Amino acid sequence: MSILVLNCGSSSVKYQLIEMSTEKYLAKGLVERLGEEDAKVKHKCRDGRRFEEVKDIKNHSQAIKEVVRILLSSEYGVIKDVSDIKAVGHRVVHGCEKFSESTLVTPEVMKVLHDCKKLAPLHNPHNIHGIEASEKLFKGVIQVAVFDTAFHQTIPEHAYLYALPMEYYKKYFIRRYGFHGTSHYYVAHRAAELLGKPIESLKIITAHLGNGCSIAAIDGGKSVDTSMGFTPLEGLVMGTRCGDIDPFIPIFLMENYDVDYRDMDDILNKESGLLGLSGISNDSREIEEKMISGSKEAKRAFDVTAYRLKKYIASYIGVLCGLDALVFTAGIGENSDLTRAAACENLECLGIKLDSEKNKETVRGKEGFINADDSKVKVIVIPTNEELVIARDTLRIYKSM
Ligand code: AMP
Repeated sequence: MSILVLNCGSSSVKYQLIEMSTEKYLAKGLVERLGEEDAKVKHKCRDGRRFEEVKDIKNHSQAIKEVVRILLSSEYGVIKDVSDIKAVGHRVVHGCEKFSESTLVTPEVMKVLHDCKKLAPLHNPHNIHGIEASEKLFKGVIQVAVFDTAFHQTIPEHAYLYALPMEYYKKYFIRRYGFHGTSHYYVAHRAAELLGKPIESLKIITAHLGNGCSIAAIDGGKSVDTSMGFTPLEGLVMGTRCGDIDPFIPIFLMENYDVDYRDMDDILNKESGLLGLSGISNDSREIEEKMISGSKEAKRAFDVTAYRLKKYIASYIGVLCGLDALVFTAGIGENSDLTRAAACENLECLGIKLDSEKNKETVRGKEGFINADDSKVKVIVIPTNEELVIARDTLRIYKSM
């Protein structure tokens, strides 16, 4: 049985068609630059067939139609009939406090998703467009929403509340929500499998380091703290996002300089992080290349990023009162041995010791232990698979119908 997983962003649709008996993708791809005349479709089948095309695709609805057309095509297709797609799972970024697990999409759920839009204006409206377009295209097929925030709904009040007047939480729902939940969930469970122990017995820190970065403290399989907060801006240093800063800085800039709130939004979300610190790039590959060839600016950006990461790892060991495993995932976590080494440097005092050879060897989608034999804490690189979590939850809900 095949499940289609859709991840609709502001100008893109990522998709995977997953065969659930093997849990392997049949085809996957990306439609990007939606709304432009030169939108691009990239499609890849499990057997190696690849297809790329540039064409005018206006919106999510047209993009999903295009995906279905390719999935059915004789040259690049993997299914014979659209009815082969039994259910569609959607990534939804924000589930407010309403959703602590994945849910079947119903008119009532759609109403709540519309109500949540304000909390994630950059993401949820596009996720909603995707669901609405998919409902029209796949008539009678169940649609499931899987939330980035759901896994973190177990975070206790003392960790999710900000020390603001309580009315802002009660009236406006301002609290820590956390994001990348499906990724943290997947790699934590995979770590337990690799360790051969029940997740209920483990204390795990998961570091999702990609374009967006977040870290989570997971006790017995439950998220108890995470670095992203009310929005995905808080916490670690990211490609273009600043992460933690003194909250007075935006007020200071807006009061004293010619910066309005829109400029401030751009500064914090699009001009900071690796890009802002280095003045070179938001891409950690480029930062590392420049750093190796002697750029002081690149080294500064790398050092600030690694220091912040290390600070969070150390503090979450305190939160968890110990640690069994530290997991690195996503583009940087899976590929950058330099980031992993810097984040773990001098953490022997907390039981973390890397094997530098194993660390260097573990790149490009490889799963593996990178800790030294005498390290108290296991350090593991695990490629994330958010689509599989979405497909599994969708299947579970499909079967329960
Ligand atoms: P993701 O959001 O998980 O796709 O991660 C994307 C990020 O991974 C990119 O911005 C790159 O900075 C980073 N990345 C990918 N490959 C490497 C690599 N070999 N070394 C360092 N960073 C990498």
